[in-house]
Amino acid sequence: MKRPYNFSAGPAALPQEVLEQAAAEMLDWHGSGMSVMEMSHRGREFMSIRDQAETDLRELLDVPSHYHVLFMQGGGIAENAIVPLNLSRGGTVDFVVTGGWSAKSYKEAKRYCRARVAASSEADGYTRIPAQWQLSERPSYVHVCTNETIHGVEFQELPDLKALGCDAPLVIDCSSHIASRPIDWSRVGLAFAGAQKNIGPAGLTLVIVREDLVGHALEICPSAFDYKTVAENHSMYNTPPTYAIYTAGLVFQWLKRQGGVAEMERRARAKAELLYGYIDASGWYVNKVDPTCRSRMNVPFFLPDDRLNEAFLAGAKERGLLQLKGHKSVGGMRASIYNAMPLEGVQALVDYMREFAARHG
Ligand SMILES: *Cc1c(COP(=O)(O)O)cnc(C)c1O
Repeated sequence: MKRPYNFSAGPAALPQEVLEQAAAEMLDWHGSGMSVMEMSHRGREFMSIRDQAETDLRELLDVPSHYHVLFMQGGGIAENAIVPLNLSRGGTVDFVVTGGWSAKSYKEAKRYCRARVAASSEADGYTRIPAQWQLSERPSYVHVCTNETIHGVEFQELPDLKALGCDAPLVIDCSSHIASRPIDWSRVGLAFAGAQKNIGPAGLTLVIVREDLVGHALEICPSAFDYKTVAENHSMYNTPPTYAIYTAGLVFQWLKRQGGVAEMERRARAKAELLYGYIDASGWYVNKVDPTCRSRMNVPFFLPDDRLNEAFLAGAKERGLLQLKGHKSVGGMRASIYNAMPLEGVQALVDYMREFAARHG
């Protein structure tokens, strides 16, 4: 069965093989007579699914043993509160604001801690990563969003806080590019990611946190969101999102079969080069992000005249190219080309864009 190419920013396309496997196992998981949805989260069957998912994720991302892997709920937006509740420790928290998501994180954190903006590219319409950071004397942590899903800005290298004279842990919101490139854990204290962009279905949030950062939550932190409680209970303090963990586990196995994160990075580069290369060469479509920090995952682009947007989207849909409408705060179009998007999907988009420009240019 040939499915359309789905460019949704999230919840996003999953590998077809994963969906087929989930469908095949829906009524009876491995002879258990149960769907994964119907299993006790404390039973032997589900515990094996959970443990395998964690083992595979640790292998894929090369997570050091002194980091906890937590399977949580609430999404990236809940983490905007949960991280300061756990890590701010009554101190100041610095934010580097490079787009809609880090701006949102900063705004939410203000409710729980002394949050300040150490650098922002808002004045440039979030088209670059600010060069000069005014970090606090001793921040509790520094927050960055390493891939801005809405504005299409991505850190090509993680900031090295130590080199900037700062001992604080770096917190990264890597929701929309996790598993598309390696993570240098020597620079990261905590990474969080909602699953529904590049990992699996909505409902699961991954938190990978260095052990020494756990156990310092504010008094008001809900127990279910206290990283210490979650870690001590192996993410089973409350009922975890079992089916989402199972599906994410299938994605991790798919990633390993494809050649892991290194192969995903190679493919992401090829897909991004194809799409940005065409956009820039077209002289018709525009992407405004500084080429040094363009996202390999989320590619916002504009037509020369907004009045063509509806026709562009309708023609795309007819061709089996789905969910290309840009985020409402940015407008235009956005193609999200996560791990599950094959190069052929990006080629089909570029072919359509070329035809459309020829017809309307
Ligand atoms: C989608 C997204 C979020 C929010 O995720 P929710 O699951 O809606 O809470 C946060 N940060 C980034 C970078 C995202 O792409």
